Amino acid sequence: MERYDAVVIGAGNGGLTAAATLAKKGVNVLLLERHNIPGGCATSFCRGRFEFEVALHQLSGLGTPEKPGLLRMELDKLGVMENLEFVELSDLYHVATPKGFRITLKTDRSENIAMLQEKFPHEKDAIDRYFDLMASYANDMIGAFIFRDPEPSREKYPYLYKYALRNSKEILDEYFSDPLLKAILSVYWGYLGVPPTRLAFAYLAMIFFQYMEFKPYHIKGGSQALSNAILNKFISDGGTARFSCGAKKIVVKNGRVKSVVTDNNDEIITEYVVSNASQVTTYTQLIDPEYVPESVSVEIKGRNLSTSAFTMFIGFDCEPEELGITESTNFLMDSTDISDAILDRMQNLNIQDELMVLSCYDIADADFSPPGTCQANVVTLKYGEPWLRIPPRQYHDVKFRCAESMLKRVEQIYPDAKKHIEEIEVGTPLTHMRYLGHPFGAIYGYEMLTKDSLFFQPGPYSPIQGLFLAGGWAGDNGFEPTLRSGISAAKSIIRRLGVK
Ligand SMILES: Cc1cc2nc3c(=O)[nH]c(=O)nc-3n(C[C@H](O)[C@H](O)[C@H](O)COP(=O)(O)OP(=O)(O)OC[C@H]3O[C@@H](n4cnc5c(N)ncnc54)[C@H](O)[C@@H]3O)c2cc1C
Repeated sequence: MERYDAVVIGAGNGGLTAAATLAKKGVNVLLLERHNIPGGCATSFCRGRFEFEVALHQLSGLGTPEKPGLLRMELDKLGVMENLEFVELSDLYHVATPKGFRITLKTDRSENIAMLQEKFPHEKDAIDRYFDLMASYANDMIGAFIFRDPEPSREKYPYLYKYALRNSKEILDEYFSDPLLKAILSVYWGYLGVPPTRLAFAYLAMIFFQYMEFKPYHIKGGSQALSNAILNKFISDGGTARFSCGAKKIVVKNGRVKSVVTDNNDEIITEYVVSNASQVTTYTQLIDPEYVPESVSVEIKGRNLSTSAFTMFIGFDCEPEELGITESTNFLMDSTDISDAILDRMQNLNIQDELMVLSCYDIADADFSPPGTCQANVVTLKYGEPWLRIPPRQYHDVKFRCAESMLKRVEQIYPDAKKHIEEIEVGTPLTHMRYLGHPFGAIYGYEMLTKDSLFFQPGPYSPIQGLFLAGGWAGDNGFEPTLRSGISAAKSIIRRLGVK
């Protein structure tokens, strides 16, 4: 039987950084991945002459070399920065409605305030106050939470205490009366998976502030380039990776990890496991029920699975300007409704007036697609459960119908889009389920509801000794948090192994 100091299950962001951090310290690590490429969500695939980005719309937390964000610092320490090139985006996002309303928010605070005040003069003072609120909130959050103030108090951090757990819609209603303005300022809920009624203001304020302060980025070569760079570093530091080889069992004895059994029935002896598989899969499929502590079962039952997504990957036979696409990140907004009705639409098998994001990677990086072409990734959030109820024979019809509706929405804003399609591929919640192995194709782990927000997360720890979790099921979702979560899980193992 083979023996490793640690086994990492899954080569998504969290699994990759966990494996690379351990290998860099000389820990003998085996990385098991069920798919045939590394990355999980952070991958690409090819159709015709296009290599399509699967997930990344905007990378957060990188910052510039002069003003680095936490992610840049972590990737630098890991030794992968020199093999990567990042492309800074100049826009936060563009919002387009079928009625012809257009606005582009930039990455500069004063520019955004001026732009919004020009479009919404009746909300002038409230816009100033709202941007001040986001900045004050973010400063409190950084002081208390990011720098881990050991003695936080209401007096020191008044905005954090007052606003962190209130829902985003409540705050927007308090500041503004214009429904379109409220919808524009809350579109990032689409990156967090829950509508403004359920989204803690902590998240909305921080995502907006982060992208403005540390800028959004794309990656040269797409997110696959990032996954490949981390994998290559892991291998060059002595790590072993097996693809198309999942883990089917984590063997636990006396409350401790003993070994991992692969899909090929190889048993690998190890005392430490980092699971980048979903928490649900880890405890309900990989570990025998008698070894799963009651506390874990209770926790899993008390949480909600996040949404999945319906995505269209389009390769166009022309440059973006010919289609009228001028910004990298474009929210197509048909409805200004930010109420709970959004949840009904996410459960629905039709595509009507849902919020969609269309990212065009060739705006900031003219070499992203072959010369004379460009590509767009169009996403709307959809829960997986209704897709699982579609009889197999009807699946293609439903998928086709949704794709047609999505394309019509794209054509409302970019009328020539259909004429210029050279390649098109569609991913549904079932696609995510198949490639990630997550229940119902959930792409953001557990729902980021206020009760499960960053203030209450369990982190990488498990009551089973030797088992750690990394990725979107162990904390917040998104590239930055999941990449950092793997590093945090690895550091816990490094401390226990006593490695210097
Ligand atoms: C459409 C879409 C758009 C997104 N846009 C953005 C964005 O713009 N910005 C942003 O920051 N984030 C974005 N995200 C979120 C981000 O991609 C994810 O939060 C992040 O990539 C999840 O990383 P993870 O570590 O949780 O691993 P995952 O990506 O969930 O990967 C888990 C891996 O584990 C493997 N695995 C599972 N079970 C087993 C097993 N038993 N054995 C072996 N391997 C196993 C899977 O095959 C997979 O490779 C987006 C996600 C999606 C889907």
